[in-house]
Amino acid sequence: MKNFLIILLTLPLLTFGQDVDRYFESIRNSRVELTAFFNQMPKGGDLHHHFSGSVYAETYINYIVQKDLYLNRRTYDIKETVQSDTDYVRISKLQNPYFSFYKQKLLEKWSVKDYNNVSQPSDKLFFSTFPSFDIAHKNTLDEGLLEIKERARIENVSYIETMFTRITCDVDVNLPDPFNIALRQQQKERDYKGTENTLEAIYGSLDKTVLEVCASKFNQELQERHDRLRIDDSTFLLRYQNYVLRLIDDPTQVFKDIIVAFESAAKSSLVVGVNIVGAEDDEVSMKDYWLHMQMFKFCHNKYPDVKYAMHAGELTLGIVKPEELSWHVNAAVFEAGASRIGHGVDLAYEKESPRLLSYMKEQKIPIEINLSSNEFILKVRNDEHPLILYKNAGVPIVIATDDAGVLRSNMTHQYVLLASRYSGLSYSEIKQIVLNSIRFSFIEEPAIRKSLLADLERRFKVFELSLPLGARRMQ
Ligand SMILES: [Zn+2]
Repeated sequence: MKNFLIILLTLPLLTFGQDVDRYFESIRNSRVELTAFFNQMPKGGDLHHHFSGSVYAETYINYIVQKDLYLNRRTYDIKETVQSDTDYVRISKLQNPYFSFYKQKLLEKWSVKDYNNVSQPSDKLFFSTFPSFDIAHKNTLDEGLLEIKERARIENVSYIETMFTRITCDVDVNLPDPFNIALRQQQKERDYKGTENTLEAIYGSLDKTVLEVCASKFNQELQERHDRLRIDDSTFLLRYQNYVLRLIDDPTQVFKDIIVAFESAAKSSLVVGVNIVGAEDDEVSMKDYWLHMQMFKFCHNKYPDVKYAMHAGELTLGIVKPEELSWHVNAAVFEAGASRIGHGVDLAYEKESPRLLSYMKEQKIPIEINLSSNEFILKVRNDEHPLILYKNAGVPIVIATDDAGVLRSNMTHQYVLLASRYSGLSYSEIKQIVLNSIRFSFIEEPAIRKSLLADLERRFKVFELSLPLGARRMQ
């Protein structure tokens, strides 16, 4: 009798769930209806999010106009001061319609807007945007933070975990060159023990006080900015990851950066993790990839509570030699011990991929999928993308924007791509992907994660009840 009552009580819920699934299938082939659907749908968190690349270029252009900086009329570079270069002119001297022309050129230089597939390779354009808008970015941190928060509020995103910055610690640590020579040799020989010993020797020779002061100063400034701007409120939460740059051709410098990044994350509840960034097919990234994995493993042993996600396998056939596609995700998972993997696009080429996938499933190591980014940078989309391999293996999936500003995209668009490209994913499965974005966030306090999850469930109830389930659709 009791079981019968439970069935009776849960029946309307089950039917309602099926109605939502049916409605979703009825709009799956209409991009505009999917856009309207996902724009309203709660999307939880954006876990793979680069701060500088998420701010739209218009914000950076506003800054250079306000400050009346110098624009190079030939290359469209920006400078704060110039000596006698006649190509540079103050922006205020560019009366309309000239400014409209140059604004368009800046949008094309600082984002993928109107990219023509001809003037330069897409990956080169993408990675060149960051240094070219850097002058504006470093002076618009407040505006940028408020912009990404406002965008999140409008498209029903309740949490962002942003890769905020590389902590600069301009201290001459006087490390002897032989350390680099030893590390490169040990890398060549894949000498795990020797590398660990060298890293230990470098670690021992560093002045920890100096590194701690850098981390602590950074944490204080971040906390002050975060509080002053009132970033967190009852509808939104922001947390930060420190990142290190894998492009620096100096292993001891990268190692020092990793230690400072871990030190900061260990001491701040706002900084919830560490990441490694920079084009993975870059010469130094490729040359020192193995070393960087050993450095993360080393820091994990020193700071066992600090979580780290790693860009790994953001590669595909044609970008590097095929044999290089076989080991980056494996190394990030099995050697570096990453808590989450960013991109993992080369999965199909990875050595013993079934073993790798089942380990990621068992250890609950999510894959951060960035559909727009992979399409633009790597030209990997639709059924070339390994999303289905991850899904079929039961690896937790999260959907993210990567660089919504540079890519002229947003979270809603990522879900539209997901649903329209992968018809095997039901609404219920997509909902699980959204819940994963809070479950697998690096938020340190369990109570905060729990309350964000409860809030997300509440938002889903409101959203589903608002759907026009009974309405007849025009075909
Ligand atoms: Zn990324």
